[in-house]
Amino acid sequence: MMILMEHGTIITVNPADDILTDGWILVENGHIVGIGTGDYDGRTEPNRRICAKNKAILPGIVDYHTHVCGSLFKALTEDMANGFYRLALPMEDVLTPDATYTMSMLGILEAVKGGVTCINDMYHYMDDTAKAVADMGIRGVLAHKIIERNLSRLCDLDYTLLPEEGQRRLEAGVRLVEKWHNTYGGRILCKLGPHAVDTISIPLAKKIVAEGERLGVGFHIHVAQKMQEVSFVRETYGLTPVEYLCETGLMRTDTVAAHCKFVTKRDIELLRKGGVTFAHCGETSGKRGALPPMKDIIDGGARFVFGTDWVTTDPWTNMRITIIADRLLGCTIDDMNARLALRKSTIEPAQALGIDSRVGSLEVGKEADIIMLDMNTANMTPVFDDPVTTIVYNANRHDVVFVMVQGDILMEDRVLLKQDEQAILREGQETADALYRQHHR
Ligand SMILES: [Zn+2]
Repeated sequence: MMILMEHGTIITVNPADDILTDGWILVENGHIVGIGTGDYDGRTEPNRRICAKNKAILPGIVDYHTHVCGSLFKALTEDMANGFYRLALPMEDVLTPDATYTMSMLGILEAVKGGVTCINDMYHYMDDTAKAVADMGIRGVLAHKIIERNLSRLCDLDYTLLPEEGQRRLEAGVRLVEKWHNTYGGRILCKLGPHAVDTISIPLAKKIVAEGERLGVGFHIHVAQKMQEVSFVRETYGLTPVEYLCETGLMRTDTVAAHCKFVTKRDIELLRKGGVTFAHCGETSGKRGALPPMKDIIDGGARFVFGTDWVTTDPWTNMRITIIADRLLGCTIDDMNARLALRKSTIEPAQALGIDSRVGSLEVGKEADIIMLDMNTANMTPVFDDPVTTIVYNANRHDVVFVMVQGDILMEDRVLLKQDEQAILREGQETADALYRQHHR
């Protein structure tokens, strides 16, 4: 199957950040096999020609930190004091495998409709999120959430250790890797997911590292997300959350550290030396009123890329909010700008996940994870010679009209092709209603 997209503006996000006006891109058997400008002049006539006039063609967004099932919590915690500990974590207790599938379908629907082609996700009942990833056709790097404490008790500072639960969760995480890692032609990959530095003891963390090494997979962990966590780790171990990574062996280039909001200059140096790329989630962090010290982080050379975290999966708003937040934190235009924001939402997270030889930019030989944005809209007009800046400061997710993953078209003209969008919305609402009632009973 050969698909040609032609007469569009191709934003390659390749090493030279090349932009091709009136460009074409040819996809065959899931891979990009040709890129050029003007009229396609290949000898083989493609099976399909898609006119991309007035469209920008970009690599799909790689969202570096997500919990798609967290679509459940939309509008439940944003305006609630300490809502994360008081409502979201306790309400996770009413989730079931089936409900996780349904809410993950909804979360992935939102991601796809916004132009996300790859998620890096960690949650409960990850086997069911993996089924949703498989069914929706999105790319996913997935980790089962390993915890050794009762998350619904953290709001009362109850950190009772539950070693049996930790062991059970680790075993489920290993089973997830054995069942799903490198399936669907590599569209689904796995990691192990020690949930957070305050919910996993040091001995269990070391065990998880050993299991990850045995299985040949990396790790996904929350680091310095909340001050409560920072205080607990300091009082319990005499460490910062970043030092905990060093102590446990989790300071590795294949570790995804989410948030790193409360870090010292020494932590930043440790992160730089350790080669960890952390997830900077500007929108969620901003909603919760605390951001990482981005000026120190950028000056100190620690690596970071963008993630949307949960509840709202809109990579375009996230890019914009994050640029604004970073500027308010003292970053210069060179420190953070539209071009960097796009790289940190595409090729750089792909690098951090170890999949940049396959996705993250539009280059011949890579897998075809491709999106198109409609530029013929009031918010995107006029465009001069830098469409990236136009897009990053003006695009919204409704401008995404086309989404392809591994050469499969998931959405065209904003219509979802492989699943029934209305059914996902209906079932998502019904399941969310039922879970909400059950939690408040
Ligand atoms: Zn998270």
